[in-house]
Amino acid sequence: MAKVKVQIDLTKDRPRHVWIGLDEEDLTIGRWQTIEYESIPPYCAYCKHQGHMIFECNLKIRDEEFKKGRSGDRKKDKTKEEQMPKGNDNQQTKAQRE
Ligand SMILES: [Zn+2]
Repeated sequence: MAKVKVQIDLTKDRPRHVWIGLDEEDLTIGRWQTIEYESIPPYCAYCKHQGHMIFECNLKIRDEEFKKGRSGDRKKDKTKEEQMPKGNDNQQTKAQRE
């Protein structure tokens, strides 16, 4: 086992293995080494901040609640949906009947 310090892009998927070349001239000589990560700092892929994971991101939760609040604005939507089309239909049917 060997411990190495590596620099990785947190926004991308972590590589699961690295190619260890044993010959500088013949790059086919070598082997894949599986990487076992130790103490990965939590990184949020949503708000791009370190310190928490995406499932505990306050910004993501807030955005989702904001979206819910928008679509879930039932009182206004219902009254609009119930009143407007029905009102129009009634007016049209009345007009047609008359
Ligand atoms: Zn976040």
